[in-house]
Amino acid sequence: MTRRIDILSRILQRIVVAPSGCWLWTGPHSGSNGRGHSYPRMCLDGQTVAVHRVVYTHYYGYVPGKKQIDHTCKNRCCVNPDHLEMVTHKENQRRRDRR
Ligand SMILES: [Zn+2]
Repeated sequence: MTRRIDILSRILQRIVVAPSGCWLWTGPHSGSNGRGHSYPRMCLDGQTVAVHRVVYTHYYGYVPGKKQIDHTCKNRCCVNPDHLEMVTHKENQRRRDRR
């Protein structure tokens, strides 16, 4: 348990809370993967992981590999668990298409 709290405190040191309530990541981002997407990243046990996935797992539990974490606030830099929602890839695509 202490390890998980340690990870979360590392994350919280790297965010700023926006007036909208968003937790904006000030640490490194993944480079654009060709589709213009860039997500907050951090290093965990030598692996690069998406910060919003780590936060979501911390607050809500395990995220199956096939599931994706969508931002209800549409801000990809945001890692506020209140703004994160687990969706299927299909649902995520559908939402993106509608935007
Ligand atoms: Zn947000």
